[in-house]
Parts: sequence; structure tokens; C-alpha cells
Amino acid sequence: MYDFTVIGGGIVGLATAYHLVHAYPQAAVLVLEKEQSLGLHQTGNNSGVIHSGIYYKPGSLKARFATEGNRRIVEFCQKYRIPYEQCGKVIVATAEAERPLLHTLYERGIANGLTLRKLTPNELQEREPHVHGLEAIFVPSTGIVDYVQVLNTLARVVEEKGGEIRVGTRVEGMEEEAEFIDIGTNAGTVQTRFAINCAGLFSDRVARMTGLSLGMKIVPFRGEYYELKPEKRHLVKHLVYPVPNPAFPFLGVHFTRMVDGSVHVGPNAVLSLKREGYRKGDVNLRDSWDVLTYPAFWKIAFRYMSVGLSEMVRSYSQRAFVRSIQRFIPEITADDLVPAPAGVRAQALTRDGRLVDDFIIVRSKRAVHVCNAPSPAATASLVIGEHIVSLMAESYTSHKKRVTKSV
Ligand SMILES: Cc1cc2nc3c(=O)[nH]c(=O)nc-3n(C[C@H](O)[C@H](O)[C@H](O)COP(=O)(O)OP(=O)(O)OC[C@H]3O[C@@H](n4cnc5c(N)ncnc54)[C@H](O)[C@@H]3O)c2cc1C
Repeated sequence: MYDFTVIGGGIVGLATAYHLVHAYPQAAVLVLEKEQSLGLHQTGNNSGVIHSGIYYKPGSLKARFATEGNRRIVEFCQKYRIPYEQCGKVIVATAEAERPLLHTLYERGIANGLTLRKLTPNELQEREPHVHGLEAIFVPSTGIVDYVQVLNTLARVVEEKGGEIRVGTRVEGMEEEAEFIDIGTNAGTVQTRFAINCAGLFSDRVARMTGLSLGMKIVPFRGEYYELKPEKRHLVKHLVYPVPNPAFPFLGVHFTRMVDGSVHVGPNAVLSLKREGYRKGDVNLRDSWDVLTYPAFWKIAFRYMSVGLSEMVRSYSQRAFVRSIQRFIPEITADDLVPAPAGVRAQALTRDGRLVDDFIIVRSKRAVHVCNAPSPAATASLVIGEHIVSLMAESYTSHKKRVTKSV
């Protein structure tokens, strides 16, 4: 019998296991991952940005966890000697209509406790000589890291501290009893006192295995990237972001310098007909049925039709993609870009047609379910993990007391 079983070997699952093995050194901790190795999905296919917390509504979980998560990832990288860089980023308004949104973002960042600097077009060009804009914000605490390296370090520490990680083990069912949970997998049943569902793109389906009614579904949005050819990397010094559309939980196509020196451009946001569909033509019947028969999906499809269509055009036409980024760097041409691997975001959509901005963490009898952990959950992972452990503390302590009494 395990004390804690974490479902999902992405960064949120491993950060949770990391805190569990530290908080309860005597506890038996298990991580189950369906793939043959860890971090193959969102954690392994993201922009690698250590976000600052500027975007999120003050008081929200995202605001609290991202600002603290930024510090914690940096400390973690220092402790375990993982390469990272706090290079800062600029958020750039390129149209008059974006100025008020940029100002709101500035106020939000200040309310979230960040140190920010407003930049004039000249100051912007001193930082980013090739970037054009009317006005910008410089966010010094934003950084870059390879989250797979963070994940692998978390996994190593979990195992060193006695935790067990089983890859190739897909969770297929859960039965919550009064004192334990039976987790059915493709490789037999696991019995555990408590479970933590960190299944990313499948977190809603895993949560429903316990009979929870969530009022939301995960809708997968593919984010496609290009990479700047090495001889054009000099066009971007730091990270360059647009002013995001406040109606969406996505940040817009940005230029990201990665820790290996390459520069990625993306991601866009297009509906994927497969939860782990990394290529344009990827379709899975169950995943498509799930989305296309969900009335809430049609609500947002009609409400945001023009944005959705322009994202599709940008996805299929490299020329349209290039036009959309030339407003920042006019000298970029289609010849400067090569396609790079895509990622798929797990985005919660509520029954009433709301794309949920904040993290969603819910409980069933003996489990905690992380049901919406899109960006910046990699930045926030260490804080999310700690939060989950604190949610389980009372139940675990009273279980331990009962066991001690009965011995
Ligand atoms: C394109 C893109 C760009 C992003 N950029 C950033 C960024 O720059 N900065 C940032 O902070 N965040 C970013 N994010 C968000 C960040 O990557 C995710 O929020 C984070 O990785 C979520 O981690 P996770 O562990 O919840 O999910 P995942 O990494 O997806 O892990 C979930 C794991 O669960 C496993 N699993 C699923 N079902 C089962 C099952 N039934 N049984 C067993 N295992 C199962 C999966 O195989 C997977 O390994 C980005 C995301 C995307 C997609």
C-alpha cells in the first residue's frame, strides 16, 4: 500500500512528489506515468519561460503562484546547478489601441508586487535594436530555463529520497474507498491512501474516474512554433511579447530566446482534434467527439470566430504568420524561419462557455485533482506542488494518528 500516488509525470506531478518526499520522509510515494519517459507533453513542449506574474488578476492563484514560483524556480536552478537566465522581457504595444491595455498590464504587475519599467520607443530600441513599438514595459524578473532539465532533477531527487517512479503505466480507473483508493492501470492495480491527479491534458478524464462532476472539460489548443535561422538570432536579444488579448488566456505569439541560444517564435493557438495532437492533421475520434459535442465549445467558437479564423490562417499560411510578427520586427522575412515542434495546451472550458484563466485544483474523497494548469504552471510548479501537499496535510496527519492509535 502506498501513502501517496501521483498520476502524471510532468513538472506539476514531479514537483508534488518532490515536496511529498521532503514533507513525509517515511511515506511511500509513487508516480505513475503512461509514457515510457517523463515530460513528453506540456512540460517538454513549451516556451521555457520563467514567467514573472505580470499578467494575472491580483489575488488569483496564478498571480500568487507565478510570482512566488518565479523565485522558487530560480532558487531551485541555483541549488541544483541547472542553467537558467533572468534576461528580462519586453511587452510591446505596436498599435494605439494597445496602449490602454499595456497600461492596465503595468498596473496589474505593480499590484502583483513586481518591479517594472516603462520604456519609450528609444529605450525599447536600446534594449532591442530591431524591435519597433509605440511603447513597452520591461519586466526584469522574467527568465528562461529548460523545464525538462528541471523535471529530470526533480525526478532524480524523488528517487534518491525513496520515491518510486513507474513509467509505461496508464491509469484507467479509480475506486475511492473509505480508507484507500484502488487505482486500476494497464499494469495491474495500485492501492494507495491518497492520490494526486496531475494528468495535464487528461486531468478532467482522470478526475471523472472518481465520480467527480467538474462542470468543465479540457479543450486542447495546439501552439505552433517557428525557429529563427541561426544567422538571424541577433534580431532578438531578450524575450519580446505582444500585448495579449484580455479575452483569452493565451499570451500571443512571442519571440523567446531559449537557454541553448536558439530563438523560437510562437506559439499560436489553434483547436486540436487530438489531446496529444502535435501535427496539423492529427485527429482522435474520442477527443474530437468530446469537443465537438460540448455545447460550451460552440459558444466560444461563435463568440471568438474572427480570432479563431485568423489563428487558423496563421497556422496554415507561413506568409500570414510572418506578417503578424513583422509589426514587431519589420526586417523578418519568411526565409528567416524554419518550423519547430509544437506543444498542446490543456485549457479548461466551463459548461457555461468560459475559458478558465486561473488554476483549478479540486478535491474528491481521497484525492486532489489539478484540473487546469496551463501556462504559467511550469513556472509555478514548485508552489503548486507545495500547495497540494498542504491540502493533504490534515488528512494524512489524521490517518497517521489513527494508525498509531490502533498499533
Ligand atoms: C505551447 C506551450 C507553451 C508554454 N509555455 C510556458 C512557459 O513558457 N512557461 C510556463 O511556465 N509554462 C508554459 N506552458 C505551460 C506549461 O508547460 C504547463 O502548464 C505545465 O507543463 C503543465 O505541467 P503538467 O505536469 O500539469 O502537465 P504535463 O507536462 O502535460 O504532464 C502530464 C503528464 O500526465 C501523463 N498522463 C496523462 N494521463 C495519464 C494517465 N491516465 N495515466 C498516467 N499518466 C498520465 C502525461 O503523459 C503527461 O506526462 C506552456 C505550455 C504549452 C503547451
